[in-house]
Amino acid sequence: MIEKRNDWQERLSPRVNAIAPSGIRKFFDIAAQMEDVISLGVGEPDFVTPWSIRESCVYGLEQGYTSYTANRGLPELREEIARHYADEYGCSYDADTDILVTVGVSEALDLVMRAILAPGDEVLIPEPCYVSYQACTILAGGKPVAVPAKIENEFRITPDELEEHVTPRTKALLIGYPNNPTGAIMTRKDLLAIAAFAEKHDLIVISDEIYGDLTYGGEKHVCFSSLPGMQERTILLNGFSKAYAMTGWRIGYALGNKAFISAMTKIHQYTMLCAPITAQIAAIEALRHGEKYMKKMVAEYDRRRHLIYDGFTKMGLPCFEPKGAFYIFPDITSTGYTSDEFAEELLKAEHVALIPGSAFGACGEGHVRCSYATSIDKISEALARIENFLKNHKR
Ligand code: PLP
Repeated sequence: MIEKRNDWQERLSPRVNAIAPSGIRKFFDIAAQMEDVISLGVGEPDFVTPWSIRESCVYGLEQGYTSYTANRGLPELREEIARHYADEYGCSYDADTDILVTVGVSEALDLVMRAILAPGDEVLIPEPCYVSYQACTILAGGKPVAVPAKIENEFRITPDELEEHVTPRTKALLIGYPNNPTGAIMTRKDLLAIAAFAEKHDLIVISDEIYGDLTYGGEKHVCFSSLPGMQERTILLNGFSKAYAMTGWRIGYALGNKAFISAMTKIHQYTMLCAPITAQIAAIEALRHGEKYMKKMVAEYDRRRHLIYDGFTKMGLPCFEPKGAFYIFPDITSTGYTSDEFAEELLKAEHVALIPGSAFGACGEGHVRCSYATSIDKISEALARIENFLKNHKR
């Protein structure tokens, strides 16, 4: 008889055991047990999806659109995406071969890593960065290589910094600007230097541009694929969650050359089949008529950005003034707390939830991430509570 084992943890995939649970979720779980919590933790718009987008979905349901779609997504949606990238950035993507509609950028990130990585392949990842980048790389059998970005350089990465981490195993570079968690953006000049670096080392570039529509102070997002010669080697990821307040719909897409997109589609057709038809119908409406609503939301984020930046600066927590996305990343080293301690003590003492910078990579330590995708009133109240915390808890 086979002896019964109960070492379940050891029997899990080593890849799963190699990744830590998200440092973001832990704080949601603590906050969920408390009352009167103001959350600056969630990276999610506080707006409801604009009505015309919701209405298009309702109408689609009334018409009986409830089936699977083509694996790659509805042709009309892919055509709208191709049109959008042609109009906005002068890129030329073929709706039939170069576009895959996914279940959010999250699925696209997972697919891209599984499509391009052989075991042990290295991916350069500027940090601090979104929590999924490392995890998706590891789950696909690759090795994430962190490249610290410096606050002195406004969290922008340079070719010299990347150069220090290149090895013969480096397969790809994964960048995410506007950046979560810092709010940093890269100028055209910065990106041209990165493009030359990618060319020199013949790297695939994965560019997560989910916050591309959320820039402030006259800054215009530069799409990496639009740089000379870059469309060929770039897999561009984008989605509707942030710009159109559509997090719960789970819809995004990947753009790239035929080989990349076919490989990703091959995985997607077995694991996901297709993105939800309801979300795809809504996404068409978002691209066709959603821009005016998106612009209003961006203007509101900008007001909040000023308020929160001034608030932290006045209370003596230095921060880089964010130029994109909806996060600010104040430096809390003067308090004597680690970022984890700061987040936990603040939550317990003042019921304000934010995320320790260490959740976004080791170089995020000494900072905390605050989302300003919440109302002006809540931000004001949170700032008052944080100021109170600083008065009573300085080490
Ligand atoms: N990429 C970045 C940088 C993000 O911040 C997020 C969500 O917070 C995602 C991707 C995931 O987006 P989606 O909702 O499209 O899966």
